[in-house]
Amino acid sequence: MKIKEVGIIGSGQMGNGIAHVSALAGYKVVLIDIAETALTKALETIEKNLKRQVQREKISQEEMDKALGNISTNIDSKALKNADLIIEAATENFDLKVKIFKDILEHIKKDCLLSTNTSSLSITKLAAVTDRPDKFIGLHFMNPVPVMKLVEIIPGIATSDEMLETTKQFALSLGKTIATAEDFPAFIANRILLPMINEAVYALYEGVGDIKSIDTSMKLGMGHPMGPLELADFVGLDTCLAILNVLYEGFGNPKYSPCPLLVKYVEAGWYGVKSGKGFYDYSGDKPVPTR
Ligand code: NAD
Repeated sequence: MKIKEVGIIGSGQMGNGIAHVSALAGYKVVLIDIAETALTKALETIEKNLKRQVQREKISQEEMDKALGNISTNIDSKALKNADLIIEAATENFDLKVKIFKDILEHIKKDCLLSTNTSSLSITKLAAVTDRPDKFIGLHFMNPVPVMKLVEIIPGIATSDEMLETTKQFALSLGKTIATAEDFPAFIANRILLPMINEAVYALYEGVGDIKSIDTSMKLGMGHPMGPLELADFVGLDTCLAILNVLYEGFGNPKYSPCPLLVKYVEAGWYGVKSGKGFYDYSGDKPVPTR
């Protein structure tokens, strides 16, 4: 299973990061989104982040130019016709991901490998809607992709050993370190992270502390690089809520029940950094707490 061309579906925070590291590692990348504006923004972000790596002497200008030359974008998923591996990184919604996988099947190569960057959804269930569950796997990158070292790899029940091995080699070729997780709701990293974020939102909701106090407690008291509410904004509050719902429904345990305050922020469209407002307001020079 030789991978030369990688197709990435969804060019948001994660998709553009996966495109960045794949192109830098020498793969041809086809980046797909539903909106031309999202693709333009993704390319701008990739260029900005590559430039930062050049300035910090992590990569050369030549490597940057080569990486940018490896990336093409398209709003038509037919452009995935030559992909050897597809990484789906669209919005965290099961029905949407099912539709994406069903729609691409008629355009892609018979032996094209399929993967999803889902944070929480069942790999086995997504694989089952395709014609190749043996060639389907969870490939879970961390945010921001160019910086974070970990990739969680999640085989579904039908994933072949060959697919697992190929995926591991692919992640290693991007310079990442891998952790393998079983296919249960939210896998390892988010199974542990999201209950902490939810508890921080409950602490805010119950008035135990304000946003600044909660984040400062965990940063300076526990040595976390970001506070839980800052981190939630960074992940995206819509994504946090989606993951908590998967944990809650998947285990049927009330300890995963999303805090009503988190639900309210998402209802308001306050998704965090990507929408300009969440637990913090990002419209000024410095983020300002919204409560
Ligand atoms: P995002 O909101 O930044 O981007 C999602 C992108 O998907 C948008 O550009 C949107 O236009 C696009 N999209 C929606 N429907 C589409 C379709 N039918 N075809 C093509 N593109 C479509 O979200 P994100 O943070 O990049 O998350 C993407 C995926 O990665 C989710 O499954 C999420 O759970 C997962 N993930 C997120 C993080 C994180 O910290 N944000 C970390 C790891 C994994």
